[in-house]
Amino acid sequence: MNADQVLQTIQDEKIAFIDFWFVDIFGELHNVGMPSYAIDKNSFVNGLEKLDASSIVGFKSVNNSDMILMPDPNSFKILPSDYDPGHRTNARIFCDLYDGSTDESSRYNRDSRGIAHKASKKLGEFGFTHTNWGPEIEFFVFDTINVYPSPYAATHSYGGSGYSIESKESPWAKGNVSTAIDIKEGYYPSQPKDTLEGFRKDVCDDLYNHFGIKIEAEHHEVATSGQCEINLVYDEMIQMADNVIGVKNLVKVKAKRKNKVATFMPKPIFGDNASAMHTHQSLWNGDSNAMYDENDELAQMSQTGRYYIGGILSHASALCAISNPTTNSYKRLVPGFEAPVNVCWGLANRSAAIRVPMYNRNQEKSKRLEYRVPDPTANIYLLEAALLLAGLDGIKNKIDPGDPIEENVYKLSAEKKREYKIGSLPVSLKGALDSLGSDSKFLEEVFTKDFLNVYSELKYKEYVAFAQTPTAWEVSMYADA
Ligand code: GLU
Ligand code: MG
Ligand code: MG
Repeated sequence: MNADQVLQTIQDEKIAFIDFWFVDIFGELHNVGMPSYAIDKNSFVNGLEKLDASSIVGFKSVNNSDMILMPDPNSFKILPSDYDPGHRTNARIFCDLYDGSTDESSRYNRDSRGIAHKASKKLGEFGFTHTNWGPEIEFFVFDTINVYPSPYAATHSYGGSGYSIESKESPWAKGNVSTAIDIKEGYYPSQPKDTLEGFRKDVCDDLYNHFGIKIEAEHHEVATSGQCEINLVYDEMIQMADNVIGVKNLVKVKAKRKNKVATFMPKPIFGDNASAMHTHQSLWNGDSNAMYDENDELAQMSQTGRYYIGGILSHASALCAISNPTTNSYKRLVPGFEAPVNVCWGLANRSAAIRVPMYNRNQEKSKRLEYRVPDPTANIYLLEAALLLAGLDGIKNKIDPGDPIEENVYKLSAEKKREYKIGSLPVSLKGALDSLGSDSKFLEEVFTKDFLNVYSELKYKEYVAFAQTPTAWEVSMYADA
């Protein structure tokens, strides 16, 4: 859609407000609403002078805070009624952020959408036209989540989900009070065990009817009652990142309307499966899939595809600072819950960090890799940008990942892992940030040093707050010491 079509649709559909959406450096969605009568052609040319960037964590300082929101008309969508039940018809538009002026060189370097855009521009240098991305989004829907009113204040908010602070006695997610599903037994149950089928279908209807987002499938996931998964049909880079932001927000909004809470934190329940955001990706030159090679008998994976895999694996630890950006992320990356811990690739091998799916292995259009490390707290714009840059670095430097591992990597001895040169993912956010500190060259041109510095600084603060906070577990463990 272009600006004229947006303005026409506003008239035709009697849109009352436009919500202008953008994300901060952690991918948290922010919104400024304007009545549609205040929007005209000029809004799409000169942008909206509406942003005090000093109030957004990770953005600007108070003495240099004015920024321009530039609406991207192509992302205009009419919002589902759950955003304003029984009242108005509203629409949303994603915005790019500009600093000072609206020429291309003034795009704000800390705007995640801008970083993804800049990364996608690198494709041309390598002779590619576009990439396709397909995330599988897992999340929990709970009756309630109680948040411990910690005196050890968080360094910044995460998610802004408005969870109620109800009880000092319940410092963790309580989950669902009554459930027919046992720990780790939630995979594909039917009704009445699965009580969230209707909820997910409502979400998927809105995704399709309002946001034009197609899904592959929705289902209950492995964890006890409440873990859901929605797989999105692949799309191009920026479009998919916008889609993921839209899905996460819609899920939270719809859960709230039902007096439930949806959470994308990876590991809310000790001893049960966590939530991932496996990310499928493929590399294209027009109609030709650069990852496909029919002559490769093993995987029909081209040498280019192998180098791309090699690039991601060689930067996997540093990438974790972006793909697994919370302290909670590392409670997921442990053995025994289908989450990866080993840095290697395999074919149809779910114990490896990268899997090359073997469904339709001979079809060019299906050839892709699935990166299994990310979780849904990742900022999707940064995640796609960083994965792409790691993959391109692999192509540029011909980083060959060796042959795919076909054994169950969880069960390999330490000796075998050494023999196969299989590394391990970081075990903490600090480990990931330390890795990023020593391995950020492949990101610097696109992300800028300034962005990486501010991102790391805030994430280290988050880690320190976590590490210094006595937890309920520690009190019960050590109070009698
Ligand atoms: N929930 C699992 C994880 O944390 C993934 C399950 C799956 O393979 O879909 O990685
Ligand atoms: Mg899954
Ligand atoms: Mg998967």
